[in-house]
Formats: sequence, C-alpha cells, structure tokens
Amino acid sequence: MIYLDYSATTPVNMDVLETFNKVCGEYIGNANSLHKLGVNSNELLERATMQIVDLLALKSSDIIYTSGATESNNLAIKGVCSFYKKRGNHIITTRIEHSSVKETINYLIKQGYEVSYVNLLNNGLIDIDHLKSLIKDTTVLVSISYVDSEVGLKQPVEDIGEILKDFPRTVFHVDATQAIGKIKINLDNIDLVSFSAHKFYGLKGIGCLIKKETIELEPILHGGKSTSKYRSGTPMLPLIVSLTRALRLSFDNLDEKYNHVLKLNKKIVDHLLKYDRVIINSNKNSIPHILNISLCDIKPETFVHALGEHKIYISTKSACSDVNLSSDTLLALHKPNDVASSSIRISLSYLTTEEEIDQFLHFFDLEYKALNFRTGE
Ligand code: PMP
Repeated sequence: MIYLDYSATTPVNMDVLETFNKVCGEYIGNANSLHKLGVNSNELLERATMQIVDLLALKSSDIIYTSGATESNNLAIKGVCSFYKKRGNHIITTRIEHSSVKETINYLIKQGYEVSYVNLLNNGLIDIDHLKSLIKDTTVLVSISYVDSEVGLKQPVEDIGEILKDFPRTVFHVDATQAIGKIKINLDNIDLVSFSAHKFYGLKGIGCLIKKETIELEPILHGGKSTSKYRSGTPMLPLIVSLTRALRLSFDNLDEKYNHVLKLNKKIVDHLLKYDRVIINSNKNSIPHILNISLCDIKPETFVHALGEHKIYISTKSACSDVNLSSDTLLALHKPNDVASSSIRISLSYLTTEEEIDQFLHFFDLEYKALNFRTGE
C-alpha cells in the first residue's frame, strides 16, 4: 500500500497510542474529582497543558480542548460572533476555507451576518490591501486558514495579525489544522487558533482551540466547567495527553522532515511537467506536503479509483468536500472551470519514501495513459 493522503488524516504514531493506553490504564480519575485519583489526573492534565504552551510558545493564552478542528472552528466563529454581537455583524474570510469554517459562516449568514471574502492574488496569497479595505466598524471577526487543505497555500497570517492589531474590536481566528506539525509557526499575533491531533500522527477525536486570554467566547456546549468554562464535558485526559505527545514528536527534526517532503514533492512535480494536460495547481507558496494537480481530460474520481486498484491512495480535492462540484478553492484562485473540476490532491509525509514516489509515478503514468487513451477513443 502507498498512502498519499496524509492531509486527510495521518496514521497514529505508536508512541502516541502507547501514551493513550497508559493514561487510560493508570489515570482513571475524573480530573475534576476532589479525591486523590482526581487530583492525580488533574496534575497530569496541567502538565500536558503546560507542554502545549511551551511547544507553541504561547503567551497569555487559554487552551480549550475540543473533539477536533471542526469543533474548534465552530466554537471560535460562533463563539466570537455571539459574544460580541453588540459590536457588529460583519465577518471577513476567504473562499478557500475548510468546510468547517465555510459552513459555519454560511450558517451565520442565515442568522443575518454579513460576510466579505478577501480576494486572492494570482500567487494564491491573500490580497492584504483588499483585506484592509474590507475592515469596518462592525467587523467582529476575520477568519483565515494558515494553510488551506486543498492547495496547501501558506498565508501570511503573522502580517495579517500585525495589521489587525490596529483594529482591537476585530478578533482574528486562524485555522492552523494543516500547518501545525508540518511547518514552523508563529501564533503571536493570532487571537484564536484551531487544530486537530490526527493531522500530526495523533488520535482522531481530539483538538484544541487556543484563545488569547483577552478574548471572550459564548460556549456552544453548556454544562459543567470541565477544563474550561468554554467547553463542557469530562476532561478527555488520555486524548489530551496523547495530543501533547503527538505535538512534541511532530516538532522533533522539523526542518529535516520538511526538507525530505520538499524533495519528494519536487520529484513528483518534475515528473508531471512532461504532461501538457496535467496542471500543477499548488505553487511556491504551498507547503510541500500538499500537491494539488488537475488532470484536464480525466474525471478525478476515476483516476483516484484507478490508482486505488494498485493500492495507491490519493484524494479528490479535500476529504471533506463534495466530490461532484468544482473546487471553490481553485475557482477562487482564478483557475478555469475544467481545471477546478478535475483536481486531485497528493499529500505527503516525512514517512513517505522515495521508493513509494517512484511506484506512484510508475502507476500514475500507466493509468494516465490508459485513461487518456480510453477518453480519446
Ligand atoms: N480545517 C482544516 C484546514 C482541515 O484540513 C480539517 C480536516 N480535513 C479540518 C479543519 C477539520 O478537522 P477535523 O475533521 O479533525 O475536525
């Protein structure tokens, strides 16, 4: 099997799983219980939280544990809009956000919120001048992903955060799900940051929303205080500690792992350049872990299934999108409709080997030629 869909999810690291199992076995107490077992669990929880603070170099921030980035994005966006509703009803975002941001904002549009979409430049980055021109007195929230899940564009969120410092009534939310664990990040100028552990070899079902202490949120889930008044439910200690472990491991040799992925990405791109009708949609602003291409003459699902026959697993668009539609991301990036409706995503990991890429390219050639021949008949 050759797995090239790491941006959809990653296999769990065995050390992370071991941590999870150990905590399940050894810390049975509810971290909010007053007895000794509860106190032990709570101490472990505090240590895990402090590690996240250290690893992400957080200043004056709260960590809210969630079930994953979908919940974090919902909590950030709905929580800000609801808490600060007296400030205004205007949101700024982009057309390349993950469905968990896009659909949350669509829900708010139905509730009467007004949304502006920032233009993207031809290089895929946000037009910062346009963003500045969109901000008004009623803008409560700017929500932009650090790295989008389809094309892998890394947006200048530090610069955007710097600009937004002049607008203290506007909260800045960043979905960092595709960035954390893959690239060096700087969260200093960001008010709210979402991510999921399963994107960096952690377990599915745990994520975080990091919140600057000065920002308030209306919770979505009501109940007991848990680890934070913003998200009720018994603290999921084994998942939390395993997330911390995964995060720490993902930071080990980050540069080395990045360079390995970069080399593999280049190998694929160099190979595919020989095809006129294969369009490389990712560009130099994309992280190398995500390579989006369009096969203009072949249905993406057909190609994904054809490679699947060889046990090679890639993705059409991102795992959470509707396969039948053109990609909003590619349309927003000024790509023509045939390119936007025929994209596939190859996503790489530091675990990917050069041999796997050779195999992938071999079967790519084989299936591409066979399917092109069939459509050409
Ligand atoms: N944001 C981005 C950018 C993502 O790639 C994903 C996962 N595909 C999510 C949010 C949602 O994460 P989860 O499915 O873990 O809730």
